[in-house]
Amino acid sequence: MTTVIPTSPSTGTTVDLGPAVALSCRECGNRVALGPFYACTECFGPLEVAYEFTTSGEALREQIEAGPQNIWRYAPLLPVPANIADTPNINPGSTKLVRADNLARELGMKTLWVKDDSGNPTHSFKDRVVAVALAAARELGFTVLACPSTGNLANAVAAAAARAGIRSVVFVPSNLEQQKILTTAAYGGTLIAVEGNYDDINRLAGEIAGEQEDWAFVNVNVRPYYAEGSKTLGYEVAEQLGWRLPQQVVVPIASGAQLVKIDKGFQELVSLGLVDEAPYKVFGAQATGCNPVSTAFKQGHDFIQPVRPDTIAKSLAIGNPADGPYVLDVVNRTGGAIEDVTDEEVIEGIKLLARTEGIFAETAGGVTVATLKKLLASGQLDPNEETVIFNTGDGLKTLDAIAHVVGPSATIAPTLSAFEATGLA
Ligand SMILES: *Cc1c(COP(=O)(O)O)cnc(C)c1O
Ligand SMILES: [Zn+2]
Repeated sequence: MTTVIPTSPSTGTTVDLGPAVALSCRECGNRVALGPFYACTECFGPLEVAYEFTTSGEALREQIEAGPQNIWRYAPLLPVPANIADTPNINPGSTKLVRADNLARELGMKTLWVKDDSGNPTHSFKDRVVAVALAAARELGFTVLACPSTGNLANAVAAAAARAGIRSVVFVPSNLEQQKILTTAAYGGTLIAVEGNYDDINRLAGEIAGEQEDWAFVNVNVRPYYAEGSKTLGYEVAEQLGWRLPQQVVVPIASGAQLVKIDKGFQELVSLGLVDEAPYKVFGAQATGCNPVSTAFKQGHDFIQPVRPDTIAKSLAIGNPADGPYVLDVVNRTGGAIEDVTDEEVIEGIKLLARTEGIFAETAGGVTVATLKKLLASGQLDPNEETVIFNTGDGLKTLDAIAHVVGPSATIAPTLSAFEATGLA
């Protein structure tokens, strides 16, 4: 391979994206220089970041362990400049891996962990992908951070741009949860509510990206870099388990990028000698009201038939998921499965996790817990194998979903007798 010295298309200067050396097509392998590109010029397939890692094994492990308590400890494995920890960003990651013994007992499982990504700065895993996208976007010379969003991404983009001191422009469905609209607006960027679903907004964003040269749409024109941020979920879980891989993981699916990149993270750790190679199974979780990947899996297809979403799990409501076919590859290769659950099951899932572990998940987390339960019941997931489920967002963002099923045990006058009359003493 000839050495490519990538230059920024907008500034003409050399781009420093750490160990990233090129973009390569996931379909045909064609390589292009690092830049704001996302589709292959040969076959229109999606591009992903290609690396040449310079450290591995013990040296890499020591470097990571000496790093900051956020995703930048994995900077040697990400498409970001080496000095990234010193530039303004929201520094997500190092979220808790919670041992969920109560939930495990309730479900008849042996060892269960919850990777609780609601602990990120804007309370969802999207801070990870946005932090990496922001770092790459700045390096590529962009001056505005933008996105089409199902909600959490809007929060993360608006916050990261605020901290970086640049403008943000985010597009969300106008019927989004009030909590996600208001929290996004609080960060002060431009927020456009669009009368349409995510797939409509995504198409619109593609058109705007073609017009606005200075705008980095994190999940459109800098999507290859954005997606790499999810690898850090895989790295963190392995490091928190003492540098080893779990046997089963359950991951919610919207575009599918997160699931695919958790697997990529695991594979890199094996090839870099940071964990021992060990078999693991990747399971996917969707809502029945938006289950194109689950349907394709069950029908044995290798393509996705788009659907029109109708579910309370709005953060997962992508009817035409870009990474769907790659999710099928990962799940089939590892021997996992994909299931989908009804909105009633999602609400039960939220309540079950809150009641057993004191973790209040948004609807996406409810999807994951309910899917775990369903996969156990069908025998597809082994209760005796060590399992990690991903809670990707905070329940405070989707209060409407449970407002009709939870509330005070009683409402009383401020007197002892009124309390005693409730029988709750
Ligand atoms: C976006 C999102 C997901 C899914 O991410 P993809 O990479 O698009 O599959 C999962 N959970 C939450 C809370 C999200 O906001
Ligand atoms: Zn190609």
